Amino acid sequence: MSFNPGSFQLDGRRALITGSGKGIGLELARGLGAAGAKVVINDRNRDKAQAVARQLRDEGIGAEIAVFDVTDRAGLFEAIDTFETRVGAIDILVNNAGIQRRAPLEDFAADDWHALMRVNLDGVFHVSQAVARHMIGRRRGKIINICSVQSQLARPSIAPYAASKGAVKMLTQGMCAEWARHGIQANGLAPGYFATEMNRALIDDQAFSQWLCKRTPAGRWGRVEELCGSAVFLASAASDFINGQTIFVDGGLTSVV
Ligand code: NAP
Repeated sequence: MSFNPGSFQLDGRRALITGSGKGIGLELARGLGAAGAKVVINDRNRDKAQAVARQLRDEGIGAEIAVFDVTDRAGLFEAIDTFETRVGAIDILVNNAGIQRRAPLEDFAADDWHALMRVNLDGVFHVSQAVARHMIGRRRGKIINICSVQSQLARPSIAPYAASKGAVKMLTQGMCAEWARHGIQANGLAPGYFATEMNRALIDDQAFSQWLCKRTPAGRWGRVEELCGSAVFLASAASDFINGQTIFVDGGLTSVV
Protein backbone atom coordinates (compact mmCIF):
# COMPACT_ATOMS: atom_id res chain seq x y z
CA MET A 1 0.00 0.00 0.00
CA SER A 2 1.41 3.41 -0.88
CA PHE A 3 1.69 6.35 1.47
CA ASN A 4 -1.49 8.36 1.92
CA PRO A 5 -0.91 12.06 2.70
CA GLY A 6 -4.49 12.12 4.00
CA SER A 7 -3.30 10.05 6.97
CA PHE A 8 -2.30 13.33 8.69
CA GLN A 9 -5.96 14.41 8.76
CA LEU A 10 -7.91 14.14 12.02
CA ASP A 11 -11.45 14.33 10.65
CA GLY A 12 -13.88 12.20 12.65
CA ARG A 13 -11.53 12.13 15.67
CA ARG A 14 -12.09 13.73 19.06
CA ALA A 15 -9.18 15.09 21.12
CA LEU A 16 -9.23 15.90 24.84
CA ILE A 17 -6.49 18.34 25.83
CA THR A 18 -6.00 18.83 29.58
CA GLY A 19 -5.33 22.37 30.78
CA SER A 20 -6.43 23.87 27.47
CA GLY A 21 -7.91 27.12 28.78
CA LYS A 22 -4.74 28.99 27.80
CA GLY A 23 -1.09 28.67 26.75
CA ILE A 24 0.25 25.64 24.94
CA GLY A 25 -2.90 23.56 25.60
CA LEU A 26 -5.14 26.12 23.92
CA GLU A 27 -2.81 26.38 20.92
CA LEU A 28 -2.63 22.57 20.60
CA ALA A 29 -6.45 22.50 20.64
CA ARG A 30 -6.40 25.03 17.78
CA GLY A 31 -3.86 22.97 15.85
CA LEU A 32 -5.67 19.64 16.27
CA GLY A 33 -8.95 21.39 15.42
CA ALA A 34 -7.45 22.92 12.27
CA ALA A 35 -6.42 19.38 11.21
CA GLY A 36 -10.07 18.29 11.48
CA ALA A 37 -10.44 16.96 15.04
CA LYS A 38 -13.25 17.91 17.38
CA VAL A 39 -11.55 19.22 20.51
CA VAL A 40 -12.55 18.86 24.14
CA ILE A 41 -11.42 21.83 26.22
CA ASN A 42 -10.52 20.96 29.80
CA ASP A 43 -10.28 23.50 32.59
CA ARG A 44 -11.11 23.46 36.30
CA ASN A 45 -13.44 26.41 35.75
CA ARG A 46 -16.63 25.67 33.80
CA ASP A 47 -17.21 29.29 32.68
CA LYS A 48 -13.67 29.56 31.36
CA ALA A 49 -13.91 26.22 29.52
CA GLN A 50 -17.20 27.30 27.96
CA ALA A 51 -15.80 30.69 26.92
CA VAL A 52 -12.75 29.06 25.28
CA ALA A 53 -14.90 26.45 23.49
CA ARG A 54 -17.17 29.25 22.23
CA GLN A 55 -14.14 31.17 20.97
CA LEU A 56 -12.88 28.07 19.08
CA ARG A 57 -16.31 27.41 17.58
CA ASP A 58 -16.28 31.02 16.33
CA GLU A 59 -12.97 30.14 14.64
CA GLY A 60 -14.68 27.18 12.90
CA ILE A 61 -13.42 24.42 15.20
CA GLY A 62 -15.77 21.83 16.73
CA ALA A 63 -15.31 22.26 20.48
CA GLU A 64 -16.82 20.64 23.57
CA ILE A 65 -15.82 20.84 27.22
CA ALA A 66 -14.87 18.50 30.08
CA VAL A 67 -14.51 20.20 33.45
CA PHE A 68 -12.15 18.56 35.94
CA ASP A 69 -9.01 18.99 37.98
CA VAL A 70 -6.28 16.54 36.90
CA THR A 71 -5.39 15.98 40.57
CA ASP A 72 -8.94 14.92 41.56
CA ARG A 73 -8.99 11.22 40.64
CA ALA A 74 -12.64 10.54 41.53
CA GLY A 75 -13.87 13.74 39.87
CA LEU A 76 -11.96 13.23 36.63
CA PHE A 77 -13.00 9.58 36.31
CA GLU A 78 -16.62 10.66 36.67
CA ALA A 79 -16.21 13.50 34.15
CA ILE A 80 -14.47 11.28 31.57
CA ASP A 81 -16.84 8.32 31.98
CA THR A 82 -19.85 10.64 31.71
CA PHE A 83 -18.38 12.33 28.64
CA GLU A 84 -17.74 8.99 26.94
CA THR A 85 -21.31 7.85 27.65
CA ARG A 86 -23.19 11.04 26.87
CA VAL A 87 -21.09 12.70 24.16
CA GLY A 88 -18.79 10.15 22.57
CA ALA A 89 -15.38 8.53 22.31
CA ILE A 90 -12.15 10.31 23.15
CA ASP A 91 -9.79 9.15 20.38
CA ILE A 92 -6.83 11.39 21.27
CA LEU A 93 -5.65 12.46 24.71
CA VAL A 94 -3.11 15.24 25.20
CA ASN A 95 -1.80 15.38 28.78
CA ASN A 96 -0.82 19.03 28.84
CA ALA A 97 -1.84 20.44 32.25
CA GLY A 98 1.29 21.33 34.18
CA ILE A 99 2.71 23.74 36.71
CA GLN A 100 6.11 25.13 37.59
CA ARG A 101 7.63 26.02 40.98
CA ARG A 102 11.09 27.57 41.32
CA ALA A 103 13.38 27.55 44.37
CA PRO A 104 16.87 26.34 45.30
CA LEU A 105 16.65 22.60 45.86
CA GLU A 106 17.92 22.84 49.45
CA ASP A 107 15.08 25.27 50.29
CA PHE A 108 12.36 23.73 48.11
CA ALA A 109 9.19 23.43 50.22
CA ALA A 110 7.84 19.89 50.57
CA ASP A 111 4.32 21.22 49.86
CA ASP A 112 5.52 22.66 46.55
CA TRP A 113 7.22 19.36 45.67
CA HIS A 114 3.97 17.47 46.27
CA ALA A 115 1.82 20.06 44.44
CA LEU A 116 4.11 19.83 41.42
CA MET A 117 4.14 16.03 41.36
CA ARG A 118 0.36 15.88 41.82
CA VAL A 119 -0.29 17.92 38.67
CA ASN A 120 2.68 17.09 36.42
CA LEU A 121 3.00 13.36 37.11
CA ASP A 122 0.04 11.98 39.09
CA GLY A 123 -2.32 13.93 36.80
CA VAL A 124 -0.90 12.18 33.71
CA PHE A 125 -1.35 8.80 35.41
CA HIS A 126 -4.95 9.44 36.52
CA VAL A 127 -6.24 10.99 33.28
CA SER A 128 -4.46 8.46 31.06
CA GLN A 129 -5.85 5.57 33.05
CA ALA A 130 -9.39 6.97 32.89
CA VAL A 131 -9.20 7.53 29.12
CA ALA A 132 -7.14 4.43 28.23
CA ARG A 133 -9.71 2.08 29.77
CA HIS A 134 -12.14 3.26 27.08
CA MET A 135 -9.47 3.23 24.34
CA ILE A 136 -8.50 -0.36 25.24
CA GLY A 137 -12.12 -1.45 24.71
CA ARG A 138 -12.06 0.13 21.25
CA ARG A 139 -8.55 -1.19 20.49
CA ARG A 140 -7.49 2.26 19.28
CA GLY A 141 -6.16 5.48 20.76
CA LYS A 142 -3.46 8.15 20.71
CA ILE A 143 -1.90 9.61 23.85
CA ILE A 144 0.46 12.57 23.70
CA ASN A 145 2.23 13.48 26.94
CA ILE A 146 3.64 16.98 27.13
CA CYS A 147 7.17 16.54 28.41
CA SER A 148 9.88 19.22 28.33
CA VAL A 149 13.53 19.77 27.52
CA GLN A 150 13.71 19.27 31.30
CA SER A 151 12.74 15.62 30.69
CA GLN A 152 16.39 15.36 29.68
CA LEU A 153 18.24 18.44 30.97
CA ALA A 154 18.32 19.88 34.49
CA ARG A 155 18.66 23.53 35.50
CA PRO A 156 19.19 25.21 38.85
CA SER A 157 15.98 26.10 40.76
CA ILE A 158 13.73 23.65 38.88
CA ALA A 159 15.04 20.23 39.92
CA PRO A 160 11.59 18.97 41.04
CA TYR A 161 10.01 20.11 37.74
CA ALA A 162 12.79 18.28 35.83
CA ALA A 163 12.18 15.18 37.96
CA SER A 164 8.45 15.30 37.17
CA LYS A 165 9.03 15.75 33.43
CA GLY A 166 11.70 13.03 33.33
CA ALA A 167 9.17 10.74 34.96
CA VAL A 168 6.50 11.66 32.38
CA LYS A 169 8.93 10.67 29.59
CA MET A 170 9.41 7.25 31.25
CA LEU A 171 5.69 6.89 31.96
CA THR A 172 5.18 7.42 28.22
CA GLN A 173 7.48 4.48 27.53
CA GLY A 174 5.60 2.45 30.15
CA MET A 175 2.30 3.23 28.40
CA CYS A 176 3.88 1.97 25.16
CA ALA A 177 5.07 -1.20 26.91
CA GLU A 178 1.61 -2.00 28.26
CA TRP A 179 -0.87 -0.49 25.85
CA ALA A 180 0.70 -0.91 22.38
CA ARG A 181 -0.89 -4.35 22.21
CA HIS A 182 -4.29 -2.70 22.65
CA GLY A 183 -3.78 -0.51 19.59
CA ILE A 184 -2.74 2.58 21.56
CA GLN A 185 0.22 4.77 20.65
CA ALA A 186 1.64 6.90 23.48
CA ASN A 187 4.33 9.43 22.66
CA GLY A 188 5.90 12.45 24.29
CA LEU A 189 6.09 15.97 22.90
CA ALA A 190 8.83 17.96 24.59
CA PRO A 191 8.76 21.73 24.09
CA GLY A 192 11.83 23.89 24.50
CA TYR A 193 11.22 27.43 25.77
CA PHE A 194 7.92 29.01 24.71
CA ALA A 195 6.58 32.37 25.83
CA THR A 196 3.54 31.48 27.97
CA GLU A 197 2.33 32.58 31.39
CA MET A 198 4.31 29.71 32.96
CA ASN A 199 7.51 31.39 31.79
CA ARG A 200 6.55 34.97 32.69
CA ALA A 201 9.51 35.29 35.12
CA LEU A 202 11.94 34.13 32.41
CA ILE A 203 10.47 36.34 29.68
CA ASP A 204 10.86 39.37 31.97
CA ASP A 205 14.48 38.42 32.73
CA GLN A 206 16.54 39.95 29.89
CA ALA A 207 19.74 38.19 30.94
CA PHE A 208 17.97 34.80 30.82
CA SER A 209 16.38 35.57 27.47
CA GLN A 210 19.76 36.55 25.97
CA TRP A 211 21.37 33.41 27.40
CA LEU A 212 18.55 31.25 26.01
CA CYS A 213 18.81 32.72 22.51
CA LYS A 214 22.58 32.04 22.51
CA ARG A 215 22.07 28.52 23.93
CA THR A 216 19.40 27.57 21.34
CA PRO A 217 20.71 26.81 17.83
CA ALA A 218 17.59 28.46 16.34
CA GLY A 219 18.58 31.63 18.25
CA ARG A 220 15.13 32.44 19.63
CA TRP A 221 12.17 31.44 21.82
CA GLY A 222 9.64 29.04 20.32
CA ARG A 223 6.25 30.18 19.06
CA VAL A 224 3.41 28.07 20.50
CA GLU A 225 1.92 27.33 17.08
CA GLU A 226 5.22 25.60 16.20
CA LEU A 227 4.21 22.72 18.51
CA CYS A 228 1.12 21.90 16.45
CA GLY A 229 2.79 20.07 13.54
CA SER A 230 4.28 17.41 15.81
CA ALA A 231 1.06 17.16 17.83
CA VAL A 232 -1.04 16.60 14.70
CA PHE A 233 1.48 14.02 13.46
CA LEU A 234 1.45 12.10 16.76
CA ALA A 235 -2.36 12.27 16.90
CA SER A 236 -2.80 10.99 13.35
CA ALA A 237 -2.65 7.66 11.53
CA ALA A 238 0.60 8.91 9.95
CA SER A 239 2.38 7.95 13.20
CA ASP A 240 0.68 4.58 13.80
CA PHE A 241 4.01 2.68 14.09
CA ILE A 242 5.66 5.27 16.38
CA ASN A 243 5.29 4.43 20.04
CA GLY A 244 7.02 5.41 23.29
CA GLN A 245 9.07 8.14 21.59
CA THR A 246 9.54 11.73 22.67
CA ILE A 247 9.86 14.42 20.01
CA PHE A 248 11.78 17.49 21.12
CA VAL A 249 10.46 20.71 19.59
CA ASP A 250 13.15 22.97 20.94
CA GLY A 251 14.98 24.78 18.13
CA GLY A 252 17.82 22.27 18.57
CA LEU A 253 18.47 23.02 22.25
CA THR A 254 18.81 19.40 23.42
CA SER A 255 21.06 18.50 20.47
CA VAL A 256 23.97 20.74 21.46
CA VAL A 257 26.03 21.77 24.47
P1 NAP B 1 0.35 27.66 31.37
O1 NAP B 1 0.18 28.78 30.38
O2 NAP B 1 0.62 27.99 32.78
O3 NAP B 1 -0.91 26.69 31.24
C1 NAP B 1 -1.04 25.56 32.05
C2 NAP B 1 -2.45 25.05 31.96
O4 NAP B 1 -2.60 23.92 32.83
C3 NAP B 1 -3.49 26.10 32.40
O5 NAP B 1 -4.61 26.04 31.57
C4 NAP B 1 -3.82 25.62 33.82
O6 NAP B 1 -5.09 26.03 34.29
C5 NAP B 1 -3.77 24.12 33.63
N1 NAP B 1 -3.71 23.42 34.91
C6 NAP B 1 -2.84 23.61 35.93
N2 NAP B 1 -3.15 22.80 36.96
C7 NAP B 1 -4.25 22.08 36.58
C8 NAP B 1 -5.04 21.10 37.20
N3 NAP B 1 -4.77 20.68 38.44
N4 NAP B 1 -6.08 20.57 36.51
C9 NAP B 1 -6.37 20.98 35.26
N5 NAP B 1 -5.66 21.94 34.62
C10 NAP B 1 -4.61 22.47 35.28
O7 NAP B 1 1.57 26.73 30.92
P2 NAP B 1 2.09 26.29 29.48
O8 NAP B 1 3.39 26.95 29.27
O9 NAP B 1 1.02 26.43 28.47
O10 NAP B 1 2.41 24.76 29.78
C11 NAP B 1 1.63 23.68 29.29
C12 NAP B 1 2.43 22.40 29.40
O11 NAP B 1 3.62 22.52 28.63
C13 NAP B 1 2.87 22.07 30.83
O12 NAP B 1 2.82 20.68 31.04
C14 NAP B 1 4.31 22.56 30.86
O13 NAP B 1 5.08 21.90 31.84
C15 NAP B 1 4.74 22.21 29.45
N6 NAP B 1 5.91 22.93 28.97
C16 NAP B 1 5.86 24.26 28.77
C17 NAP B 1 6.98 24.92 28.26
C18 NAP B 1 6.98 26.37 27.99
O14 NAP B 1 8.02 26.86 27.51
N7 NAP B 1 5.93 27.11 28.21
C19 NAP B 1 8.13 24.19 27.98
C20 NAP B 1 8.13 22.82 28.21
C21 NAP B 1 7.01 22.20 28.69
P3 NAP B 1 -5.27 27.40 35.16
O15 NAP B 1 -5.31 28.49 34.16
O16 NAP B 1 -6.54 27.17 35.90
O17 NAP B 1 -4.08 27.47 36.07
